[in-house]
Amino acid sequence: MSAVLEELKARSQDYSETTVANEETSYNCQKCRDEGGFIVRKNAGETTLIRIGNQFKYNLLKYDTDEWQQCECLKMHQLIRLIESSEITEEFQKMSFKNFSTDDVHPIVVKMKSKANQYYAAFEQIKGFRQNSIMLIGQPGCGKTHLLTAISNYLMHTKRVPVLYFPYKDVINNIAANNFERKNEIMNRMKAIDVLFIDDLFKPIGGKVDVKPWQSEIIFEVVNYRYLNNRPLLISSELSLDELLYIDEALTSRLFEMAQDFTVTIQKDKKLNYRLRKIFEKR
Ligand SMILES: [Zn+2]
Repeated sequence: MSAVLEELKARSQDYSETTVANEETSYNCQKCRDEGGFIVRKNAGETTLIRIGNQFKYNLLKYDTDEWQQCECLKMHQLIRLIESSEITEEFQKMSFKNFSTDDVHPIVVKMKSKANQYYAAFEQIKGFRQNSIMLIGQPGCGKTHLLTAISNYLMHTKRVPVLYFPYKDVINNIAANNFERKNEIMNRMKAIDVLFIDDLFKPIGGKVDVKPWQSEIIFEVVNYRYLNNRPLLISSELSLDELLYIDEALTSRLFEMAQDFTVTIQKDKKLNYRLRKIFEKR
């Protein structure tokens, strides 16, 4: 197996039961010898699936027939492409529910993890509706990004759902640094992707919330588009509800409607912060 497949296999163990043939060989895939598929012999009397236009139907074979069968490794390559295009970094690709420890943490953190779990479990049923999103807000440093990244990883690995990771501050800086040349391209990607993960929305700089009108306009246009088209959002922000409402009321009301069943707010609290920090140092 190639290094990239080897690594991906190791990485995906937390997310799925999929295993890959393990023979030593000069091919990346021994099963299909990198052909993407192989020929299987089917005997007269067996059924085969045939395609007519956009429809599939079963057909009884009159003669022995050789059939082309797609190899599992193609799915692996599709998964690699999915992960690469998500822009989730290698470090973040390791984040799962399993390695999010809830030993000795504040009950609100346990609740947050359980909400994230419930959201993932409900995803298939709710994805096409308006209430299809999750939002974790408040107190920094208690694992909001970890949990939303875990959801993203599970969606890609087990459901093959395309996700785009959008670290708010980096992308906003990038748009400004490029003189807004890539603005439309970036916004189109944010609108089109199946699931958009906005991490650290309106992140304060040096403890100060400073959101320029063009910045909230970009976010509003994207969120409003996704709101109207029922496309899921995963949102983390260290701002409180009041702060978000103050920055942009129309945006915040849409976010809260979309995430109304899966919103967890962690109050900013120095004591809580201290306890959380002490506990999170262990991770
Ligand atoms: Zn293969």
